Amino acid sequence: MKRLVLASNNKGKIVEIKKLLEKFPIEVFSLKDMGIDIDVVEDGLTFEENAKKKSVEIYKELIKRGETDFIVMSDDSGLEVDYLNGEPGVFSARYAGEHGNDKKNNEKLLNKLSGVKKDDRKARFVCELALINDKNEYFNVKGHVEGIILEKESGDSGFGYDPLFLYEPFNKSFAEMSMEEKNKISHRGIALQKAVRILESLI
Ligand code: IMP
Repeated sequence: MKRLVLASNNKGKIVEIKKLLEKFPIEVFSLKDMGIDIDVVEDGLTFEENAKKKSVEIYKELIKRGETDFIVMSDDSGLEVDYLNGEPGVFSARYAGEHGNDKKNNEKLLNKLSGVKKDDRKARFVCELALINDKNEYFNVKGHVEGIILEKESGDSGFGYDPLFLYEPFNKSFAEMSMEEKNKISHRGIALQKAVRILESLI
């Protein structure tokens, strides 16, 4: 069976992607599962650039190790807030300085939007997935979902900005949804549905 190696160290993303591919005939591995300890520097100006860079570096490492029968997939994603001209964007994970500090990132976002009314709190999550197979063929897909930034956190599920992201059709924040519910409508879920079509042609 082909192996899908997720070029990420973000636990939240890995859990969601594994869940989404649960019924798909491919074995899913994280970098940790593969014993790869590489933290790719995300210095690209776009989600696509960063996603591609992560996949390429992990692809090179797997080839160096003599691995075959694999597809590398990386996810670069983030939040774009219209009022902040698309911030935090590619800086989503390190918006407050320290990489992956969700609490501080959320506090910073709330401060920046302090006093801003609901109509001006429109935002979207964006997800870019970059895939490379063992023959060095490259594919990329994207997904996005529109929402509103809440005035305070609501809900305990998910990760990152989920407690602040209101999905209006369900009148729930992403952190108030089960993972199954979020995966049906999320930026990552949408991108992954497209990626599945590519994976089907590759396995
Ligand atoms: P990356 O590892 O550079 O792609 O970082 C993505 C960052 O965007 C995460 O650390 C979160 O802050 C944010 N993010 C991406 N997807 C989601 C999501 O589904 N929920 C909440 N935050 C997300």
